[in-house]
Amino acid sequence: MGKVLLIGAGGVGTVVAHKMASIPEVFTDILLASRTKSKCDKIAEHIGRNRIKTAQVNADNVQELVHLIQSFRPDIVVNVALPYQDLHIMDACLQTGVAYLDTANYEPPEVAKFEYSWQWAYRERYEKAGITAILGCGFDPGVTSIFTAYAAKHHFDEMQYLDIVDCNAGDHGKPFATNFNPEINIREVTQKGKYWENGRWVTTEPHEIHKPLNYPEIGPKESYVIYHEELESLVKNYPSLKRARFWMTFGQEYLTHLRVIQNIGMAGIIPIIYNGIEIVPIQFLKAVLPDPGELGENYKGQTSIGCRIKGLKDGKERTYYIYNNCSHEAAYAETGAQGVSYTTGVPAAIGAMMYLKGIWKKPGVHNVEEFDPDPFMEELNKLGLPWVELHNVDLEV
Ligand code: NDP
Repeated sequence: MGKVLLIGAGGVGTVVAHKMASIPEVFTDILLASRTKSKCDKIAEHIGRNRIKTAQVNADNVQELVHLIQSFRPDIVVNVALPYQDLHIMDACLQTGVAYLDTANYEPPEVAKFEYSWQWAYRERYEKAGITAILGCGFDPGVTSIFTAYAAKHHFDEMQYLDIVDCNAGDHGKPFATNFNPEINIREVTQKGKYWENGRWVTTEPHEIHKPLNYPEIGPKESYVIYHEELESLVKNYPSLKRARFWMTFGQEYLTHLRVIQNIGMAGIIPIIYNGIEIVPIQFLKAVLPDPGELGENYKGQTSIGCRIKGLKDGKERTYYIYNNCSHEAAYAETGAQGVSYTTGVPAAIGAMMYLKGIWKKPGVHNVEEFDPDPFMEELNKLGLPWVELHNVDLEV
């Protein structure tokens, strides 16, 4: 059906490559390109059957990307490198007339800040060029936004309160590790908290608001309100929301390590000179922390991510909880990667499938909740991320 250029050979890239390779009727040709070609080759070898071709690319270099796209001629580019590369890859797609999909919004390397404005600024150019860009198609952002769209379509006349709840109850056996790229992850979770209430953003100190929430098959876990990128587009696309928040679970050990890392300056993003060489502390930290892509082998337990929503249907107040639980062990057995990479990579593959099948094809730059959620939700059930709905339950939030 179509050709895909996949950029990024980390934990998430590993899963996307495995999933796509297992669906040859949709993903006819797959080229996996990344900064370090040997990592692409290792993934291709694990998948076998000569399903994946590989290439080296520096995705910060637009001309290099353009040459690669022109020589392979994909129908869509799936970006699972880092958020720093988003704009370069979007530029290359624009120059070559190819569709674009990613799982995380742009972040400038020199400021620990993420927002959609930089990517939304491409809307008109993509529209004029007749190219589709699909933003934020991982789990969160991604499935959480699609769950919200599904709730709005099928279960509410007016959604009023949205709480996205993200629990990782897995244990990888390491004293400290992040579940996706450490640099991006630490930048995200050490930011001030922020949520939407009554038409404005409310800012909190990092991890200021917290309480235990119960997660299905897991039990109570201390959960913290943090800012997360899908809130920005969801409050725009669902203006009836009076409040929208994002909760994430953290263990005490994890928070203690984070605090120490920050206190000793290792989360810094400003370059320092060490032995005459310029280094960025958080990038050095990434180099000594466990590679998230390698955590899978001993990872036990599961993730549970979902949306807890309150609003009106037929004039009556109702509550709704939709979630997926994902087992780290099952994810590893299937792809060699842990559950967080799996929950991100599978939706990226499904998003690309939606595009190739012509179901999610709309010139412009779109967040995932702007597309029909139903066909995507069906594929989640088939491709390893089944979801569960609970109606009129206590949402706890
Ligand atoms: P990793 O750090 O494991 O992998 C990133 C990959 O991108 C590496 O292979 C890296 O190359 C490659 N890369 C980095 N810079 C460049 C460049 N300039 N040119 C080409 N390749 C480059 O990260 P993850 O796999 O954990 O995460 C991938 C993405 O997924 C991130 O953007 C992350 O924010 C996002 N994500 C989204 C989630 C969601 O639910 N929406 C959840 C988790 C992650 P090298 O191997 O040489 O370092």
